Amino acid sequence: MKTLVIGTGGREHALALALSLDPAVHEVHAAPGNPGIGEVATLHDVDSMDGAAVAALATALAADLVVVGPEAPLVAGIADAVRDAGIACFGPSLAAARLEGSKAFAKEVMATAGVPTAGSRTCATADEVAAALDAFGAPHVVKDDALAAGKGVVVTNDRDEALAHAAGCERVVVEEFLDGPEFSLFVVCDGTIGRPLLPAQDFKRIFDGGRGPNTGGMGSYAPLDWLPGDMVQAVMAKVVDPTLAEMRRLDAPFVGCLYVGLALTSAGPKVIEFNVRFGDPDIQPVLALLESPLGALLAAAAVGNLADVPEPEFADGAAVSVVMASAGYPEGSSAGDVIVGTETLAVETDVDVIHAGTARTDAGLVTAGGRVLAVRATGSDVADARAKAYEGISSISFPGAQWRRDIAAEPLGVVEGAASRG
Ligand code: AMP
Repeated sequence: MKTLVIGTGGREHALALALSLDPAVHEVHAAPGNPGIGEVATLHDVDSMDGAAVAALATALAADLVVVGPEAPLVAGIADAVRDAGIACFGPSLAAARLEGSKAFAKEVMATAGVPTAGSRTCATADEVAAALDAFGAPHVVKDDALAAGKGVVVTNDRDEALAHAAGCERVVVEEFLDGPEFSLFVVCDGTIGRPLLPAQDFKRIFDGGRGPNTGGMGSYAPLDWLPGDMVQAVMAKVVDPTLAEMRRLDAPFVGCLYVGLALTSAGPKVIEFNVRFGDPDIQPVLALLESPLGALLAAAAVGNLADVPEPEFADGAAVSVVMASAGYPEGSSAGDVIVGTETLAVETDVDVIHAGTARTDAGLVTAGGRVLAVRATGSDVADARAKAYEGISSISFPGAQWRRDIAAEPLGVVEGAASRG
């Protein structure tokens, strides 16, 4: 099988690595990729937002499977362009990607399908927003209806801040605050059925203890030993199956990764959000533990044949990813800072350096983005994996590097409390 991975981040590096370990995958290509992906794949300088160019590349390569990593190309309809060229694509159509592209659409689907989620109102005027804020009370949750690269959501006790955020958006969803620890479940879907991977947790704030502004994610771990044993089954039955059925009814069958962001409330699991792709960095530890071949799983999903593929299997133990970000992140980022130490980790079998915002220049490997890289480790349990990940972090350096010291030290929200989110 020849595979083509679209994207440039840590998620795409983790996907390319896992695909390269599948014996049925004999070539991995990526566009545009990054220096880490270049170690396991052939890179092509093609714009991931350009559907025609991606389809032309996949055709020229005679790719058997295209795996689209990020949400922006999916919401722009890249999967349709690839499928129209007759090539199997793991990623939802433009119509199905609306589950992430419009929060209001996702809420409508959940309401019709009877999926447990926060009560909400979609508002287009300041008066509607004010009324909804008062109806739900504090803490206030205000979400930009449109895709906003993780910056569209404000959770605050300050009513004025909530109003100001809403004023900056064309349409917002105001919702009830969900209390309880958050977790993510990634479900590989073929339009009709879904296969769950391991639940994971992602540490979103920049500073230790859940302080400071939100980021794309500063670290993650899997599995979650504290989750009740029947939780994955419950989420499949209450959330995933009815959502897939509703999407089929809407003539927008969902093919790709349904990322279910959940809060474990006192009334059971409730959906915080849907995304239409793997989460980064939360997918990194999950893929480190995956023992089933990834190429076969994603290819079966892409052509509607998941029923023929066994449930994915995972190694015992745990995995942890710790992100190193560049100076100024998350408000900005610093490019061109020389990164040293990644080579020494290349020989460790249970530790990987996952590249995100890196570039190779005459000066060597340098920073080229906010989240620069992650050190990912597997171990006999979370504590063991965490110790190895931090040992790896200590051997890498670049000017201004920032990382959290408390990734996976305690389950997020279970011990820290929901305050870490507000
Ligand atoms: P989202 O972009 O929808 O994932 O929201 C970003 C973050 O805001 C989530 O990871 C939660 O921590 C928080 N959040 C979103 N919706 C809610 C909610 N209804 N109640 C509590 N926290 C929320």
